[in-house]
Amino acid sequence: MPLLCERCKREVYRVEVCNYCGRKIGVECVKSSQRASKISRLVICKDDWSNIKKRTIYKNKGAKATATAQETA
Ligand SMILES: [Zn+2]
Ligand SMILES: [Zn+2]
Repeated sequence: MPLLCERCKREVYRVEVCNYCGRKIGVECVKSSQRASKISRLVICKDDWSNIKKRTIYKNKGAKATATAQETA
């Protein structure tokens, strides 16, 4: 079963889950990724990278839960 990138709809050999929109995206749509702890990794897609709020949260090693809490507050 082929994997599909949920951002560009292209077939990809491997997907990662964006921590900020929850979509499964291929490497070409991953803007950046970093290690948040020994066991977890943060992935941000190109769409969320252009969102200054999400980008700031990413740079502070925050995950999506923190983002929604701050945005709705
Ligand atoms: Zn893609
Ligand atoms: Zn995203």
